[in-house]
Amino acid sequence: MLAQKWPEAKCELDHGNPYELLVATILSAQSTDKMINTITPALFAKYPDATALAQAEPGEVEPLIFKSGFYRNKTKSLLGMARALVEKHGGDVPGTLDELVQVPGVGRKTANVVLGNAMGKTEGVVVDTHVMRLSQRLGLTTSDDPVEIEQDLMKLLPREQWTPFANRLIWHGRRVCFAKNPDHDNCLLAPLCPSSSIVTLKPAAKKPVAKKAGKRAAKKRARS
Ligand code: SF4
Repeated sequence: MLAQKWPEAKCELDHGNPYELLVATILSAQSTDKMINTITPALFAKYPDATALAQAEPGEVEPLIFKSGFYRNKTKSLLGMARALVEKHGGDVPGTLDELVQVPGVGRKTANVVLGNAMGKTEGVVVDTHVMRLSQRLGLTTSDDPVEIEQDLMKLLPREQWTPFANRLIWHGRRVCFAKNPDHDNCLLAPLCPSSSIVTLKPAAKKPVAKKAGKRAAKKRARS
């Protein structure tokens, strides 16, 4: 159903190769893909590969990524990543999860994004905030730990669906199943979704009234 709804779902960070997607994904923490897409063209023009970025000074990179937020920490991550790629992988992005997660600033999520979307390799499922939230709401996991959620999804999905399914969940999370006020009424998954009627941010004003009514009724019953 998600594939029919979002046939165009893909990673929304603009990139032309694994290095660019790695940089963009590191930058995307605490920011939006739209914002990152506005700053990466200038960054990639100045530093087209890990070798160029590895030689940069923090003061040269910071102004270019300032708008993404947390620019000092992100600059450190980018330079650490680029220098590790040069020192250990000849400037290339390594093609396995085990190697990628050894690179400074790269965790499982970032590694899965790069492997699945820029290298055509499927080693895991991207579990970002959207995948986490939707997997829980859809009843695909009971965990709130990203690594456990990833394991649950890997067991449920055929391997060739790991990357496309995560991209579709992310699209659905951004367009319909919002963190606040999910749009159940316009969600094609509502008939199947165990959260379609229970995930709501409407004020729970009726609860205390019901409790009081319950207490009154109980007292009445006790008296009678
Ligand atoms: S029915 Fe609601 S909670 Fe379930 S996936 Fe759709 S929007 Fe999200």
